[in-house]
Amino acid sequence: MSSNLHQAQSHDILRSWQSQRFDINHHKDFVLPMFIGNDDDAVEPIDSMPGVFRYGANRALEYLEPLVYSFGLRSVLLFPVATKADKMKLSAETKNNADDSDEDDDAASNSSDSPNSERSYASSSSSGGTREVMPERLLNDGEVNDEVSKPAVGSQNPFLNQNEEEHHLLACEQGGGIEGTPNRPSPVPVPPPRANEHNARAGGNVSRKEDVRLIKGMALKDKYNPVLRLIPKLRVKFPKLLIICDVCLCAFTSTGHCCLFEDHVKATNASGQALKHGSLSYFPISNNTSCHYLAMLSVEYAVRGCDVVAPSDMMDGRILTIRQKLNENGFNRVAILSYSAKFASAFYGPFRQATNNAPEFGDRRAYQLPPGSRALAIKAVKRDIEQGADFVMVKPAGPYLDIVRDISERHPEIPIAVYQVSGEYSMLKVAAGAGVLDLNLALREMLTAFRRSGATIIISYFTPELLKGEFSVASD
Ligand SMILES: [Zn+2]
Repeated sequence: MSSNLHQAQSHDILRSWQSQRFDINHHKDFVLPMFIGNDDDAVEPIDSMPGVFRYGANRALEYLEPLVYSFGLRSVLLFPVATKADKMKLSAETKNNADDSDEDDDAASNSSDSPNSERSYASSSSSGGTREVMPERLLNDGEVNDEVSKPAVGSQNPFLNQNEEEHHLLACEQGGGIEGTPNRPSPVPVPPPRANEHNARAGGNVSRKEDVRLIKGMALKDKYNPVLRLIPKLRVKFPKLLIICDVCLCAFTSTGHCCLFEDHVKATNASGQALKHGSLSYFPISNNTSCHYLAMLSVEYAVRGCDVVAPSDMMDGRILTIRQKLNENGFNRVAILSYSAKFASAFYGPFRQATNNAPEFGDRRAYQLPPGSRALAIKAVKRDIEQGADFVMVKPAGPYLDIVRDISERHPEIPIAVYQVSGEYSMLKVAAGAGVLDLNLALREMLTAFRRSGATIIISYFTPELLKGEFSVASD
């Protein structure tokens, strides 16, 4: 009879006992993610996220005041949004005036990633049986053989078709698109390509120098990075608010990627069109230089008063580099919340509209984790903890709660955050708006599942509504 379960859930109190550690009402556990735009007095709706807005620094203060003082908001996670017009302007200005000799400062100048680049190219020449559906690959000195990128017409190979579907899904995730093959319609609706000023760069190289200029001229400067301007204001107005800063480069790079690339990378195909799909396997990431600037950005946030930096870039070794750089500059008190288990996910779609940071070519699968990989996630978390992460994150939340459980069992010593990402938020909102589910019940179930998996910290766009009591999420 031990297989019978109903007796153990036949009463309110018994059900509560089954959930006794699943209390989802601790307001201190909820973090509000916020997009901060560069116009201090602007508030802009985000079409793909009903009820979510981009706030300029001044408007963010107004928005937060009742949340902090009346409803108990204790923590925010801040994302800067840089306009492409600013990027283009700065890039043009600095190109004209630049002294290229000062491209990389101190540690970055000693951090050539060229060995990795060579490995990337070497591996690209040893393709396997899925050549027909792989993205354009670089051949000699940037030449692209368009033949190898064409899907096999009429192919009956289910593995090839499976890969093709994957490309479609990931292309949609990027906000770009891949046209359906002539003999086979697209398996999912493909949105139209985004308006993209950087397509005007067709035919040019991705330049590390250009991106370094953008990072140094924008990400590290108050004039262009609105989060740098907002932190001191928050510090004064809300002294007890926990300020977490997302740390990444993608808001500021010309490519929209979370990293810098080596100079010689081609971002275009033989026809001069920006690449829109496929893996970055053939594009050498300038990993150490990227880590250097992530650490520099972390220090700038720390200088202005943030409590926690949260690197979301997924570069190798960035936690160690950031920890060292923070300590060298006297910021031992600043904690690191690492996006350790951040998976390449279709659920980031609305976020990319919110931050204008969809990649200009390729996708992020070469540095974000493959959705099917427990092993890499476990390795990434272990490495980040060893390198100095104080908290680790699993992102997205709902589809990856098994990973949260894995981590909570392996590392009971470290609090785990889940990020209920933009797609998860919008999915619930839109479904509820269409009357197909009860948002109150669905959200309660999701939050309970986060708790059940072992998550302590919940990063959610629902935080304001939860704090205001607009949902009844008390556990049964
Ligand atoms: Zn990024």
